[in-house]
Amino acid sequence: MHKVVIIGSGCAGNTAAIYTARANLAPLVIEGLEAGGQLTLTTEVENFPGFPEGIMGPELVENMKKQAQRFGAEYKSGNVDKADLSERPFKLWVGEELIETEALIIASGASARWLGIDSEQKLIGHGVSSCATCDGFFFRDQPVTVVGGGDSAMEEAIFLTKFASEVALVHRRDEFRASKIMLDRAENNQKIKKITPVMIDEVLGVEEGEVKGVRLRNLETDETWVHETAALFLAIGHIPNTTIFKGQLDLDSEGYIVGKGGARTSIEGVFHAGDVEDRIYRQAITAAGAGCKAAIESERFLADHE
Ligand code: NAP
Repeated sequence: MHKVVIIGSGCAGNTAAIYTARANLAPLVIEGLEAGGQLTLTTEVENFPGFPEGIMGPELVENMKKQAQRFGAEYKSGNVDKADLSERPFKLWVGEELIETEALIIASGASARWLGIDSEQKLIGHGVSSCATCDGFFFRDQPVTVVGGGDSAMEEAIFLTKFASEVALVHRRDEFRASKIMLDRAENNQKIKKITPVMIDEVLGVEEGEVKGVRLRNLETDETWVHETAALFLAIGHIPNTTIFKGQLDLDSEGYIVGKGGARTSIEGVFHAGDVEDRIYRQAITAAGAGCKAAIESERFLADHE
């Protein structure tokens, strides 16, 4: 029986682990399928306070984990496949293993969104990717395509210019929702070519087993054409990892946890932290702050129910 279990090992989960470990609650962190969370998929983090020269995302999250382990947090690799939150202790299953806990912090984050078209799904890992940092290197001197209009799309496009011969930035509207500084950087980069307002109808290359191009459709004129590319990088947002809580916790229409003030959820003793609830800020620093709140609230909850 654990006092507190934390689901997720990104910024939110690790910060919750540091705080609950220092409160002598011996937290168990279940790392999840994407251990380390979204920071492991980024390059340099320039806006996390305390690092005037910036720090690499994977290093930042690894440092947080080490810091939590120093105070006794235990990390378990694996994914929570099933949860029963109907009564305390809450029950979680990692594969066949049952884990019981008095308090639960859900910091399971959000995963990349896909276009959902058949050809895209068939070519994942063969030129279709949701992580430029992971896969950009494979497309040295080749043309690549990024889809999306937010900061992630700008970041990925700029990063890919280090390798690719050219980067097509494909977006469904003429306006980009990215921040001005990121948009300016992308616009000033000679290798980035914007194509709007378009959708991707098909990823070409299923027969060959590797991406050969994308069939684009202009959303104003309905005209379609083939744009040759060796890779397609998705940067169209994220989906919260809450499937196992459906029907148990209050979730909104997109699956984000509906917060009930502070770090509380609709179930007493279950707390949220990070992108699993936050659809607005989604920053490393806000996730870390949310992890801290969830830890302090779980500590108070446990003290009240001792
Ligand atoms: P986002 O801001 O939600 O942008 C997603 C983009 O994908 C939007 O432009 C959206 O188009 C497009 N999109 C969504 N579904 C689509 C679909 N089915 N087909 C085609 N396009 C689709 O997500 P994000 O860029 O991942 O950013 C998330 C948060 O992280 C933001 O708060 C961002 O500021 C932050 N972030 C910051 C940095 C940084 O500061 N360095 C880097 C990365 C992310 P519409 O615009 O038409 O809706």
